[in-house]
This record gives sequence, structure tokens and C-alpha cells, in this order.
Amino acid sequence: MTTTTARVIDGKQVAAEVVASLAARIAALPRPPGLAVVLVGDDPASAVYVRHKTRMAERLGFAHWQFTHPADYSEVELLAEVRRLNADPTVDGILVQFPVPKHIDRLKVLDTIDPAKDVDGLHVVSAGLLSQKRPGFVSCTPAGVMELLARTGVTLRGAEALVIGRSDLVGRPVARLLEHADCTVTVAHSRTRNLAEHVGRAEILIAAVGVPEMVKGAWVRPGSVVIDVGVNRQPDGKLVGDVEFGPAAERAAWITPVPGGVGPMTIAMLMSNTVLSSERRFGLA
Ligand code: NAP
Repeated sequence: MTTTTARVIDGKQVAAEVVASLAARIAALPRPPGLAVVLVGDDPASAVYVRHKTRMAERLGFAHWQFTHPADYSEVELLAEVRRLNADPTVDGILVQFPVPKHIDRLKVLDTIDPAKDVDGLHVVSAGLLSQKRPGFVSCTPAGVMELLARTGVTLRGAEALVIGRSDLVGRPVARLLEHADCTVTVAHSRTRNLAEHVGRAEILIAAVGVPEMVKGAWVRPGSVVIDVGVNRQPDGKLVGDVEFGPAAERAAWITPVPGGVGPMTIAMLMSNTVLSSERRFGLA
């Protein structure tokens, strides 16, 4: 048996290209795009994500605001803040960092965001527009997955695609996007039987589960494209994906690493959505 070694898709590089491509669009706007980020509570991972997002917004010359609140900030106060940001004409994009503390209803928060400013793409209106293949905001991680797939140059039309995971955040919108790209899409989840067989058929495999290395390399279809969305921290502090990287890389044609694959794309697509929101506001898109 001949073994191949997959080409590794460099998410950092692709994200840098996406961000660089925004410069001309930003320059064409009458004012810098405005991004407001809201953080409630003291989840350390959320604090890191928010810092990266605001840092990138700063680098791109956006107007940006970060509102940080203690864990006991009330739902009423948070919803009032979101409404204030909805009404502020200098704000093009609103992102409330999840998870929010348990006393706050996540769906109420999402439902309160003006869909025209939903640059995270998680509002039910955004999901509905995506479902009907109408212009809206595509949530950032799924949009990043599609951008990475595009960079491989692999033909998606007619390809067998498997998405493992069906969350509103990742799996479901990725499945929609693949279907829009004319893949034949299977969605697997925790109740799926014979996952290995499904994986073995997939020319395009997207893993968005959150279980370290649960997709065995030996299951992967030779010559396939493997996009690993999972980010799992091991007891030794090391990050691993949902796919066994080494053995999978010996079979796949293309594979994303963890870290350095999908992760950097999420922020790049958030910036892209914010620019798009601003363009729409000024009738440029
Ligand atoms: P989630 O809401 O927990 O959803 C996980 C999905 O995996 C569910 O649909 C679940 O099925 C399915 N699942 C669980 N165990 C399974 C199993 N043994 N076999 C098959 N399917 C199984 O997670 P998420 O928010 O979609 O995130 C998924 C992963 O992506 C996490 O590791 C997260 O950290 C990562 N992530 C990364 C980024 C990034 O920027 N790189 C962004 C977002 C998320 P059921 O529906 O049946 O429960």
C-alpha cells in the first residue's frame, strides 16, 4: 500500500490573506467599520477570544468598543446594552461573547441583536437566510471552513461530504454551506451508527464534535479533505482536534492542523462580516 502525506492547510496564512483582502474595501467606506464586543463574566477562554478580536479590529483600523461586565450583570442590563448598540449608527457589528453566565438566556440575547448587525451570524434570521441561500451573515467558523476548502481547489460539486456535529454554531451551518456548494451532505451526531463507515465514504470530512481525536486516522478516505474544527485541551495543556492528525494525514490529500487550522479563520471571517455590514449600511454591498 502506498502512503501519501496530506498537504497541511495553513489557517494562519489563509486568515492573513482574508484580512489583507479587506484593506481596499475598508478604504472605500465613508468611515471605519464599527465593531462592539460584549463580554459578561470571567471565563478565561472568552477573555482571550475577545482580546484577539478587538486586537484584530484595532489592527484593521476599525472603530471598536469592548464592554466587559462582571458575572452578576443582569439579563435586563445586557439586553438594554444590546438595544443601545442596535440604535447606535456608528456600530456595524455586535458580538456578545458566549458562553454567558447561566442566569442569562442566550437565545434572548441573540434574538435582541439587530439582524443587520449580527456579524457573528447566530441570530435566527441569519440562520433562516442561510437556510434559504439568501444574503445574510454566515456565522464565522462555518464561513472559515468554506474559505479553507476553497483554498484546496478541490471540486465540491457532487462530492460526498460528511459533517460530524449538528450544533447551531458549527455543524448545521457548515452542512448548509456544503449543500449550497452542491456537495451530497451527510450529517452525523451522537446517535449516528457506524460512524467509521460514514467517514470512510467522505471525500470532504468536517469534524465539529469536541471529543479529542475521536475520528481515527484509519477511518479516513484516502485522498479526502479533512477539516478539523474541534479544539480540545489535553491534561498536559496541549491542544488537539477531533481527528487523529498523524494517521489521518497519511491518508488524506489535505488536512487542517489544530491549532493553526480553522481557529484563525474565525476571527478573519468576523472582520469580513463587519466590513460587509458596513458596506450594506452605506449601500456598497
Ligand atoms: P457542541 O455544541 O457541543 O456540538 C457537538 C456536536 O457533536 C453535537 O451535534 C453532538 O451530537 C456531536 N457529537 C458529540 N459526541 C459525538 C460522537 N461521539 N459522535 C458523533 N457526534 C458526536 O459543539 P460545537 O459548538 O459545535 O463545537 C464543536 C467543536 O468545535 C468543539 O471542540 C469546539 O471547541 C470547536 N469550535 C472551534 C471553533 C474554532 O474557531 N476553531 C469555533 C467553534 C467551535 P448531538 O447533537 O447528538 O448531541
